[in-house]
Amino acid sequence: MAVSLTASGAAPQPDDAATELRARVERFVRTRVIPQESVLDAGGPAAGAALRELRSLARTEGLWALPLPAELGGGGLPFSVYAQLAEAEGASDHGPAALGSATLLDVTMLARHAGTRVRERYLEPLVSGEIRTCYAMTEADVPGTDPLLTGTRGGYAADGGWRITGRKWFTSGAGAADLVTVLARTSGAPGDREGLSLLLVPTDSPGFRIVRELPVLGAAGQYEIELDDVRVPGDHLIGEAGRALAVAGERLALGRTLRCLRWLGQAQRAFDLMCARAATRSGSRGALADHQLVQQHVFDALLALRTTRPLVHEAVALIAAGQDARTEVGLAKVAAARMLQQVTDSAIQVHGAAGLGPDTPLPALFRGGRAARILDGPDELHITTVARRILRDYGPQAVTPG
Ligand SMILES: Cc1cc2nc3c(=O)[nH]c(=O)nc-3n(C[C@H](O)[C@H](O)[C@H](O)COP(=O)(O)OP(=O)(O)OC[C@H]3O[C@@H](n4cnc5c(N)ncnc54)[C@H](O)[C@@H]3O)c2cc1C
Repeated sequence: MAVSLTASGAAPQPDDAATELRARVERFVRTRVIPQESVLDAGGPAAGAALRELRSLARTEGLWALPLPAELGGGGLPFSVYAQLAEAEGASDHGPAALGSATLLDVTMLARHAGTRVRERYLEPLVSGEIRTCYAMTEADVPGTDPLLTGTRGGYAADGGWRITGRKWFTSGAGAADLVTVLARTSGAPGDREGLSLLLVPTDSPGFRIVRELPVLGAAGQYEIELDDVRVPGDHLIGEAGRALAVAGERLALGRTLRCLRWLGQAQRAFDLMCARAATRSGSRGALADHQLVQQHVFDALLALRTTRPLVHEAVALIAAGQDARTEVGLAKVAAARMLQQVTDSAIQVHGAAGLGPDTPLPALFRGGRAARILDGPDELHITTVARRILRDYGPQAVTPG
């Protein structure tokens, strides 16, 4: 299945097979996942049962784990092809979990950086959906934007394994996870670039505990966790000891790009709802769509969507080619988060009170847009790191532009 990625980074033109697959994913999300969103959002046993049912349907329809390696039981789609479907899949926040692609980040990280025994033990059950993972970097007591200050400590145990002690928070999905990847300082002092390590921790390890759930604007799914002298085997180290930032950086680049694709899908959904509402609701002065200030919302939202999409696909193309994508991912992440917040806010405004009530997905989509500007690094972090990188090329050592 070939997909042509254009040099400008504009959304590539998928071939017929990719178009057909994207239509099937879009239909699955629209007809299967979206009707279950309120149950899935509420969490608890009913959400677990609904998710199991959706996963079983996805397998039956041949849509399970499309971007995951075929040799592990996935669909084997290259990232550049999967990127053409990810927007449709991510139109619901629950799409990736229902269709088995939510583990793409963990599977990629473990396949590249874990030892043989960890790969053999965990990769297949991860792809099949038998086990779930989460990722714990952020801590309450130090800025998440400054991981060099990580307070969680890891050290060698007498049996050759690792001992880990610390607290993490906003660990997405920890409540239902079987494994958590923990960033811990295993050598050096706070502020050192070296000395941080990633350790894979089974959540049934003695000393691991969920402290509390942290609702985000009322939504479930985030947790504070504690590790109190948790022991894991020596081979549960991911990547090299003390060199976690290289692995974490690679993971974050892919993760941020995937999120951007999904946010495009969610914004498109809000945009469609806004336009349908504007076109069908009328007062004594005509349809909402006839008001120029409503047209302004539609124009600005469309502009935000259309200008963000090529930026995201520029990052996709570089990541798919294994090239440095730091600037492009930073631009895409800020643009996509702002765009999702702007489009969902406009859609709510055009709906009036109905946009804030329980009968549309707009409150949940807006919540996602607001959180998007903080999670995976707040806007300011990306703005300053991209700008600094660009400005380096204009410093005293740079070639003066002609
Ligand atoms: C819904 C959600 C899910 C999350 N999931 C996870 C997860 O699964 N795993 C995980 O480890 N973490 C997760 N997080 C945490 C998230 O990654 C952090 O919140 C984020 O990286 C920011 O860290 P912080 O909250 O400690 O903010 P801080 O680092 O304290 O920053 C606070 C504010 O300071 C300002 N600021 C920070 N740096 C700069 C700068 N360089 N220049 C200018 N201003 C700056 C910004 O306004 C920023 O918002 C999640 C968060 C949310 C909201």
